Amino acid sequence: MLNAEIIGLTSKHVANTYGRFPISIVRGKGTRVWDADGREYLDFVSGLAVCNLGHCHPNVVKAIQQQAEKLIHVSNLYHIETQSELAKLLTDNSFADRVFFCNSGAEANEAALKLARKYFSNKGESRYQIITMEQSFHGRTFAALAATGQKKYQAGFEPLLEKFVYVPFNDIESAKRAVNSTTAAVMVEPIQGEGGVNVPSESYLRELKEVCKKAGALLIFDEVQVGVGRTGTLFAYENYGVAPDIMTLAKGLAGGVAIGAMLSTEEIMSAFVPGTHASTFGGNPLATAAGIAALKTIINEGILDNCRKSGAYLTERLNGLKAKYAFIKEVRGKGLIIGMELAEDIKGGDIVKECLAKGLLINCVGDKVLRFIPALVVTEKEVDEMLGILEPLLAQAGAQAKV
Ligand code: PLP
Repeated sequence: MLNAEIIGLTSKHVANTYGRFPISIVRGKGTRVWDADGREYLDFVSGLAVCNLGHCHPNVVKAIQQQAEKLIHVSNLYHIETQSELAKLLTDNSFADRVFFCNSGAEANEAALKLARKYFSNKGESRYQIITMEQSFHGRTFAALAATGQKKYQAGFEPLLEKFVYVPFNDIESAKRAVNSTTAAVMVEPIQGEGGVNVPSESYLRELKEVCKKAGALLIFDEVQVGVGRTGTLFAYENYGVAPDIMTLAKGLAGGVAIGAMLSTEEIMSAFVPGTHASTFGGNPLATAAGIAALKTIINEGILDNCRKSGAYLTERLNGLKAKYAFIKEVRGKGLIIGMELAEDIKGGDIVKECLAKGLLINCVGDKVLRFIPALVVTEKEVDEMLGILEPLLAQAGAQAKV
């Protein structure tokens, strides 16, 4: 099928929940994708921070092929070899002792929130309040939606799940004021992704842990977007010298295959026993085989080094543009999640469309922050190529807006 035919079918038969660009991507390799008409694109979106190893990484493809020939699905009524192996890899390389597997970021957050409430309920403590951040994004299921501190996602779905309170991100005094004896957990993205690539101060997450400790509450890090190498360390919390009590992962964990994971310590995870929580597909052989291959590749094949190196180069080049154009307000991020904030009168969404027409996929959050989330294998040459397309379009938008 060509683009037009696929678009026709989607428009007629698929729920209209996405504002889609008028192409259909049918093939990918590394940092490149091709649409159904055969056109090539340089991809700085990576399936929205999912394809951390690039598209169809050979290690992941091989693991999926081999697993698919052996066993695709089996119930969690039985022990699953690849699930246990991926859990060991994750716990060997993180603060956590145990992992609950599911299939998406929202589900991982649901599990985290349920665990926090169950942990205190088992202890006979009346703690149910969850504190999250303004401008946060935690997913679209009801608990994740209640946790998401942005009205635009919640509108029309009320009444929301109760006892969620929102405080400004990176404002420790507000967090201190919000916690009380009913607080079960504070949930935060170490770097806010959908909210505009918002990076906290060096000390904020450490201070948040102290606040939680003092209040007797748990700290949950939602690393669905920034975990699994995206910030240049395996987990984003490593950058800040503080470990959470519970962490959620999804996007980059299985090289593009749907997966979610919720990790915690032995003590906290012991609140989950047979019957308290479950997922039919969670930790299935195919997804966890892909996860093992993806994680081993990230850990063993220099991917984190490349992420830091290419991330530093991209940041430096973007700061060069900021020095040149007054309409670029700020460049911020870590590793290879980088945001470039534009002045109000520059429409980020229009720039994204123009990039697409020139063979470049980039993304914009909140219509004024261009978000760069390429595969962690991206090279400096590809960064140059991307900027070769982007800079003239930015200059043109700036000239038109007369900023
Ligand atoms: N949490 C964060 C930080 C995210 O960025 C996202 C998705 O963008 C989610 C949760 C939800 O993940 P999913 O779409 O897999 O449910």
